[in-house]
Amino acid sequence: MFQGTRVFVSREATALLGIEGLAVVSVVDVDGVRQVDVVTDDPTAAACPDCGVISEAVKGQVVSSPRDLPYGPASIRLVWHKRRWRCREPLCERSSFTESIPAIPARSRLTSRLRAECGEGIAERFTCVAAGAVHYGLSWRTAHAAYVRHVAATLAAPLPPVTVLGIDEIRRGKIRWVKDPDTGRWVKATDRWLTGLIDAAGDGGLLAHVEGRAAPAIVEWVEAQSDSWRTGIRYVCMDLSASYAKAIRLALPGAVLVADRFHLVRLANDMLTQVRQQATRTGRGRRGRRRDPEWANRRRLLTAHERLTETGFATMWNSLMDQGDLGVDVLYAYTVKELLRDLLALAPTPGTSVPNHSEISHRLWKFNSQAAACDIPAVHRLAATIQNWWPAVEAALTTGYSNARSEGYNRLAKHQGRNAFGFRNTTNQTRRIRWACTRQHRRAAANISEVPAQV
Ligand SMILES: [Zn+2]
Repeated sequence: MFQGTRVFVSREATALLGIEGLAVVSVVDVDGVRQVDVVTDDPTAAACPDCGVISEAVKGQVVSSPRDLPYGPASIRLVWHKRRWRCREPLCERSSFTESIPAIPARSRLTSRLRAECGEGIAERFTCVAAGAVHYGLSWRTAHAAYVRHVAATLAAPLPPVTVLGIDEIRRGKIRWVKDPDTGRWVKATDRWLTGLIDAAGDGGLLAHVEGRAAPAIVEWVEAQSDSWRTGIRYVCMDLSASYAKAIRLALPGAVLVADRFHLVRLANDMLTQVRQQATRTGRGRRGRRRDPEWANRRRLLTAHERLTETGFATMWNSLMDQGDLGVDVLYAYTVKELLRDLLALAPTPGTSVPNHSEISHRLWKFNSQAAACDIPAVHRLAATIQNWWPAVEAALTTGYSNARSEGYNRLAKHQGRNAFGFRNTTNQTRRIRWACTRQHRRAAANISEVPAQV
């Protein structure tokens, strides 16, 4: 089209397009789409990519149609008329090349600014890669590559210093059941767990996801970090998992183990549910029914005492007392659960002081003596667990550290999964989740404070 002819460039349209190195020749309507014909306006575009010598020998004309950002509500079609040059340098092995400019790299089918915008959009605004791809008119693959490019450097940056490391298990997707071909029984398919490592006290967010829950994988991850990062960790907050405890003893021998107190409350609630179900089975010889008081009150039993209304508590208590031994067992387990909660409530929160030693001993004694005074095996098991993990439980009471934040990260992770309609690729999944769970850290690093809206 433009070969051999002198073209007239529109300075106004070129300024409007705003792609460095391109000049607009014409804008015409082709079937309702604005077609923008452009030529190269960058003397260095004729430099040979191998030897760098600027060529003066045109070999031919090539037309490419890189995608660009939409202009206004509709998109435009960019038609770039570029030249092929011969390299005449005697020592250069390349015979010819097509011109390229930084705004549209060689062999790229989209402009650098579209790639950047799409990557940033998927990282910060769109719910998932597919939504960003549709918006920018790109394939999923191209849009995903743009996103990976946008986040890669940030995610590869060294970890922020962490004083309290949090370890938490996260189920990846739903449990899948497969039929065992030999026995014909349904068994759980492979370990679908991830271990999340978080900055439990700072704003570093989610540091990593490790596949599975086994000690060697966690040890490997910790040992891959720098010496200074590892020695900075003074506490490790976790649920009562033997494999996590083993991993930390191996990889971070100097760190103090802290039992996550929210996980301890969950253990106590599980114990209470077990006792309630067992009581129904032995007392009634069947499963619970809606009219059974222990079944009707199952949610009240798990609710923190201070969050029950007076009537709610009285209704629960009296209706269970009326059931004789069955109800007494359930209420016994309930008081043991509440005494453990009383003990854990000593953990300092911002604004409260560290509990003194005698207060801790007193509440522990109340919990233990209540647990010992009954003959319910599940209650005894809970008391034994607290005893076995006592140094870690005590550390939770004196430091106040917990994995409370990981709940929020798990929620974000699930949210990402739902937006993407599930992930098939674990690398993509962990990348996307980690990006979502380090947003706070990036904000803090960029020192952007959120100003509350003026009322
Ligand atoms: Zn050359």
